[in-house]
Amino acid sequence: MIITVATGNAHKLGEMSEINPYKEIVLQKVEGDFDPVENGETFEENAFIKAKEASLIVKGYAFADDTGLCVDYLDGAPGLHTARYAPTQEEKIKKLLKALDGVPFEKRTARFICSMVLTDKNGNIVHKTMGNIEGYIAMQAAGCGGFGYDPIFYVPEYEKTIAELPDGEKNKISHRANALIPMMKFIKENL
Ligand code: IMP
Repeated sequence: MIITVATGNAHKLGEMSEINPYKEIVLQKVEGDFDPVENGETFEENAFIKAKEASLIVKGYAFADDTGLCVDYLDGAPGLHTARYAPTQEEKIKKLLKALDGVPFEKRTARFICSMVLTDKNGNIVHKTMGNIEGYIAMQAAGCGGFGYDPIFYVPEYEKTIAELPDGEKNKISHRANALIPMMKFIKENL
């Protein structure tokens, strides 16, 4: 079985393919440029917008992942604006570190939240899952694994940022793994 993932982000698709426990189900991204306007008011609404658009394009099942980084000290920011926080990823990281300048480590608690929505060929919701990972915003960026904000997301259990984790480790503990595994189970058992 082939399932469409509503993303243009090759990093996301790569991680999902590695996390997917059912290798007989192949995940493929939407062909060409895929960049729907994500103007929802929640992660779930944004995931729905992306999944629906992909479903209507491929005329079949599709699911989307919408991820946000929520920092407690910043009242949940960047949250829904995680992707648009600054023009480049380097600037996003700089901006977040600046916003937390002088804030001690123990007050830098944060989490990635990942919402996934599966839609059918008509764009109707079939299933939803959520996954989180808890951690801290590091005092400075470290590591070159993963993508996005991974160099500044510190995981206390490993005493490392996600970007410093050994190969494959992120995909065992991430927000994306916690949302994708139940989503894949649903797909395997119901589609
Ligand atoms: P979106 O879910 O594609 O809208 O991504 C939102 C923002 O979060 C983008 O800036 C991504 O780079 C970032 N992001 C998404 N997933 C991850 C992740 O697993 N680690 C770090 N940053 C991520």
